[in-house]
Amino acid sequence: MLIYSKFITQLDFKKSWPFIWLNPRWKGKAIWPFIFHADQIPSRTLIEHEKIHLKQQARGLIIGFYLKYFYYNWKYGYENNPYEIEAYKHQDDWKKE
Ligand SMILES: [Zn+2]
Repeated sequence: MLIYSKFITQLDFKKSWPFIWLNPRWKGKAIWPFIFHADQIPSRTLIEHEKIHLKQQARGLIIGFYLKYFYYNWKYGYENNPYEIEAYKHQDDWKKE
């Protein structure tokens, strides 16, 4: 389910604790079973990216995903977070269909 929200993008994620692990530059956020997006009309690539995160969350039984995502971000940083690498790798797969 897609939820358009300007509010969530205006939060200062660096200060509001359980969200400190979020990248403040994000345009979308997957919090199972929802995808929040900051642009009124989100790009297909963004939606596909977030859908991959929803699959990762289902795979990790939600809580396992968040614990590992947080850990990976702390250990490797956002760009090298294996969950992000997987999402960036497949976010444009729909163009090949
Ligand atoms: Zn991502």
